[in-house]
Amino acid sequence: MHLREGLDANYQHLQGCGVTHAVLRARDTSGEQVRAIQAKYPKLFVWTASTDITRPEAEAALTKAIKEGAIGLGELKSHVAADGPELRRMYALAADLNVTVMIHFQEVPHFDGEGVFATGFKQFEKMLKAFPRTRFIGHADAFWANVSADYANEIDYPSGPIKRGGITDKLLGDYPNLFGDLSANSGNNALSRDADFTRDFLRRHQDKLIFGSDCSCTDGRGAGVAQANNPRASRLAGKCVARETLALLQRSTTPEIFRKLAWSNARSLFALEI
Ligand SMILES: [Zn+2]
Ligand SMILES: [Zn+2]
Repeated sequence: MHLREGLDANYQHLQGCGVTHAVLRARDTSGEQVRAIQAKYPKLFVWTASTDITRPEAEAALTKAIKEGAIGLGELKSHVAADGPELRRMYALAADLNVTVMIHFQEVPHFDGEGVFATGFKQFEKMLKAFPRTRFIGHADAFWANVSADYANEIDYPSGPIKRGGITDKLLGDYPNLFGDLSANSGNNALSRDADFTRDFLRRHQDKLIFGSDCSCTDGRGAGVAQANNPRASRLAGKCVARETLALLQRSTTPEIFRKLAWSNARSLFALEI
């Protein structure tokens, strides 16, 4: 989940949606705030660090955050190419620091002026090959739209049955250094399109996928202006993304696989001592 302001807001969302522990996706400068939250709620939260990766100090800032206790990089969300020099530096840094790196892939803006992020997912295989020691976590629109082989970067959240053989499905199967983050409208949307596909996809990639929320509701039950910054995600307006995706996963797979997706995979990927 994204780090929320205040000592209690993160915990309140967890309580409301029925989740026990969380990785807070925060900024490189969030260390002090996270430590205050960890002091009040011991052992419930860890954090990852993001920054503007286009600035020259990005590597130093993220390295400092890891030294201060962050357990990963991301989500990295910048207006750059997925195989461009800025992200390549981050892939190398993640390997050097022995932490995961989570990338927001988006080829279609949600509103005028938003722009696009980590573009060129269809060619991402060459990054997986070039950085075999880097553990990548794929996230957001283009990562999830590409579970279907017929995606042509034409829309942010495609609907309808999945055409088998999509790039994301193939890369998750072929590359041990790629993992998938199930959060947000993008993850929920992809898994809601085709129940037969979803059941099989979760089974095949049961050791590679991690539940996440990326929810903006206040109480873990859909209150507040959920998905306010994303008018295209009206499908989940008024709902808690965490609750919706947990329910979707539960009805789409076995209890054993559900436990991997909602607990054990993250625990081992982030080497958590819980
Ligand atoms: Zn994102
Ligand atoms: Zn929520």
